[in-house]
Amino acid sequence: MSMDMIPKDLRTARACLFCSLIKTFDQFEFDGCDNCDSFLRMKNNRDNVYDCTSSNFDGMIALMSPEDSWVAKWQRINRFTKGIYAISVAGKLPNGVIRDLKSRGIIYKPRDTSLR
Ligand SMILES: [Zn+2]
Repeated sequence: MSMDMIPKDLRTARACLFCSLIKTFDQFEFDGCDNCDSFLRMKNNRDNVYDCTSSNFDGMIALMSPEDSWVAKWQRINRFTKGIYAISVAGKLPNGVIRDLKSRGIIYKPRDTSLR
């Protein structure tokens, strides 16, 4: 696991609303989301970082070997890249983004477990 996958500064950390990956605002802006950037397009786009990530999240999971982790399966992150993930992320992608995902056949499940 490379060091730049780890949030450098937790005060500016945000969690991706689609996959719950935690990084700092700058890391999302510079690199996009490692799992979702092909459709969330946060790289070099501050507006999309604001829309598609949340600073309000709970719990952290360090995901080292997604393939054989039951926690990863439980959190529905076992197909994602190694990194730090939030257990629950408050908030929801904007409706426009959700519609766009739907038209590409991508199903969005909000990561806010406190609503269940
Ligand atoms: Zn993501």
